[in-house]
Amino acid sequence: MLKDNLYSETLYETYGQHFTVDKMLFEQKTDHQHLVIFENKEFGRMMALDGVIQTTERDEFIYHEMLTHVPVLAHGNAKRVLIIGGGDGGMLREVLKHETIEHVTMVEIDSAVVDMCREFLPNHSAGAYDDPRVNLVICDGIEFVNDSEKTPDGSFDVIISDCTDPIGPGEVLFTSDFYAGCKRLLTENGMFVAQNGVCFMQLHEVETTARRLGHYMNDIWFYSAAVPTYAGGIMTFAWGANNPESRHVSLEELTARFNAAGIETRYYTPAVHQAAFALPRYVEQAVQTVND
Ligand code: SAM
Repeated sequence: MLKDNLYSETLYETYGQHFTVDKMLFEQKTDHQHLVIFENKEFGRMMALDGVIQTTERDEFIYHEMLTHVPVLAHGNAKRVLIIGGGDGGMLREVLKHETIEHVTMVEIDSAVVDMCREFLPNHSAGAYDDPRVNLVICDGIEFVNDSEKTPDGSFDVIISDCTDPIGPGEVLFTSDFYAGCKRLLTENGMFVAQNGVCFMQLHEVETTARRLGHYMNDIWFYSAAVPTYAGGIMTFAWGANNPESRHVSLEELTARFNAAGIETRYYTPAVHQAAFALPRYVEQAVQTVND
């Protein structure tokens, strides 16, 4: 919510964060959501959708590195990746750093987010949309994953759901119907990861995902990272893998894969990868209660 020169996040009624709007860059009610892009002296250029901070130039690397390099390096032989959402282009940029990736399909519901982030947040995509390996589809993610005519079963090794919170257009991307479609699209050793909220504030989202996704994947767990502008503590990432071994790749093997990939990171390391799967007791209990 914009008032005077402050942007106040409205994700929670009883708690929130605000940012000075040091320069307003873009604001529009698109066909799907309220899109705002502005400059803040602390976090650089920031984008918000429907009153919720989505990404900032200063801390986006944490989120985008952890939702891409963890599944791609855990898989070890990923060639085809599907990104659902991701309109700011940061996820696409990080996936494409892996030269072994042959194809990326990105399914984004709102073309205005892609267009305006290319213009006002150019460092996020950093030319990624021009990569010949990219197929950008403007469509609701749940329609895409359930359209077996358009996309055959077993089309992807890694699926990354980089969507908004389960409110508005993002809500369908936390349903069993969506997870069933993702399961259909995954290869035998495929895996699904998703942004799954800040567990201290949104623990119910962890429980719901564990229950729903658990019906479709052989191994369900979560991993985490602290992203400063996702207020309230560590963010949990959902992990659903067909091959349970994917979550237990040794540090030596992860290090060998990371070195072979030859990519520059600012947050991800193989040791951080492994440590990220260690969850606080209250989150473990939430996941295990669902699994009991
Ligand atoms: N990092 C953010 C977070 O953790 O909340 C997500 C950032 S990204 C900008 C979220 C994207 O999901 C937006 O571009 C939005 O348009 C897209 N999105 C929301 N609902 C969608 C749907 N049903 N299908 C495809 N994309 C969707």
